[in-house]
Amino acid sequence: MIADEPTTALDVLVQAQILNLLKNLKKDGMSIMLISHDLSTISEICEKVGIMYGGKMVEFGTSHEIFENPKHPYTQALIQSIPRLHGTEKPKYIPGSPPNLLDPKPGCRFIDRCPHVMEKCKKDPPKFKTESGYVLCWLYE
Ligand code: SF4
Repeated sequence: MIADEPTTALDVLVQAQILNLLKNLKKDGMSIMLISHDLSTISEICEKVGIMYGGKMVEFGTSHEIFENPKHPYTQALIQSIPRLHGTEKPKYIPGSPPNLLDPKPGCRFIDRCPHVMEKCKKDPPKFKTESGYVLCWLYE
């Protein structure tokens, strides 16, 4: 089953019902592809997670790998932007805007927002390397 933003714009009670339905379907053996901006839903339902930015998958891994040890600077920033219930850490927003996909720059698509940008990020798009995990970033070359 492909579920595209199944909990978006729903009140919390209906969200909980949808989450329970998805969990039960999964328990019954159904494979589910969940497409969502809601990271808490993803962390609750999904075993494997692919992070998309600027029309490309920039990181792929198990839910544990992605949420406990994110590698790509966008994934790290995305997780830091989630409000926390516990502790004093405040969510950090991601500065800048998404890239213009009608006229993309030659290098990495996260270049204008990345705190680790290097010279080669501007020239060549990074390749999806698997040796250090599935990360689309020159930091892991
Ligand atoms: S390739 Fe460069 S600009 Fe892109 S995410 Fe990695 S470090 Fe940042």
